[in-house]
Amino acid sequence: MTGTSQFRRATRLDGIELSEIVQITERAAELRVQGVDVIALSTGEPDFPTPPHVVDAAHRAAREGATRYTATAGTPALRAAVAEGAGVTPDQVVISTGAKQVLANAMLATVDPGDEVIMCAPFWTSYADIVRLAGGVPVLLSAGPEQGFKVTPQQLSGAITGRTRWVMFNSPSNPSGAIYSRDELQGLARVLSRHPHVWVLADEIYEHLAYVPFTRFVAAAPELADRTLTVNGVSKAYSMTGWRLGWGIGPKPLIAAMTAVQGQVTSGASSISQAAALAALTGPQDLLAERRDAMQSRRDLVVSELHRAGMECLTPEGAFYVFPRCHDAMPDDPAFCRHLLDTEGVAVVPGRAFGMEGHFRLSFAYGTDMLQAGLARIARAVAAL
Ligand code: PMP
Repeated sequence: MTGTSQFRRATRLDGIELSEIVQITERAAELRVQGVDVIALSTGEPDFPTPPHVVDAAHRAAREGATRYTATAGTPALRAAVAEGAGVTPDQVVISTGAKQVLANAMLATVDPGDEVIMCAPFWTSYADIVRLAGGVPVLLSAGPEQGFKVTPQQLSGAITGRTRWVMFNSPSNPSGAIYSRDELQGLARVLSRHPHVWVLADEIYEHLAYVPFTRFVAAAPELADRTLTVNGVSKAYSMTGWRLGWGIGPKPLIAAMTAVQGQVTSGASSISQAAALAALTGPQDLLAERRDAMQSRRDLVVSELHRAGMECLTPEGAFYVFPRCHDAMPDDPAFCRHLLDTEGVAVVPGRAFGMEGHFRLSFAYGTDMLQAGLARIARAVAAL
């Protein structure tokens, strides 16, 4: 009995499928099982291990009995550590099961059917789907390479309506690597000052992977702090994607509403992961710069190899992705990505998944040997077109 005839999806899932990134990664894994030598440059996680002192802290926590439910908004110690890093009080912090859950909690806690959420395209794939899941309408502002993959104050101003609930910024950006300078953030903040009903979601999960000076949104626009939610976590900075631990920092009523959502969905983040994150935040920090420098060398390698292969590609200022244009090689980006996978066994993600066609995303969070081999294959596949 399959039960399929009985099954009906809720309408809120209309148009929402498994993310294209997951699909590509799974297809690459399938090919590998068939014996194909696949190089997957498609996933969004650092290849470095979680630092040993963090793993030790988790072991210790488990042995010492930190194995029960924690407070819904997170352990007092971790909330205090996050609050201290942000210069706020602990009741302005909620700990969640990854930054992704912070985003989902925020949307579920605030978005009513038909409310609009403005985001820059290219955007991280989940933004639009999380907004839709919450009943909202994603409003995309296209920001291509000619404008550094960043929205302008004019674009933002033109997109705001009476239904706008949020504008989402992601700096450094996944997938483009763009970083908004302090001046650029202030230009956007000036527009937002004229629209007090619009809240700002600043996703700064790649903060510690910046190759140019990085400014937090609230530091550039403190006058908007009472309607800004900052999203961050340990996944990317401390190579802890699997621990599922992130946080939101914002005004108390918003944090309380997000905690209420979380209370009914997960009850909060894992006790062990929270102990591990506390060790990450309060332990030695020199690994952040070391890992950033390693990523920067990989970025330089990847950008120069892509240019050598004749592909147009901006140099990312942060995060660990490049977002080259494949339009001249093949305008249909999903077809281009299939071509790379089928002919050369290289997995990258089509730009369409990020709301911008004619591009693809390549992650450089891999060792240089693998990157070099992958890029040689891409150059061959492009030359063959
Ligand atoms: N925001 C952005 C821009 C991301 O790229 C990711 C991870 N791909 C997340 C949020 C979610 O991170 P987490 O692992 O903390 O859920």
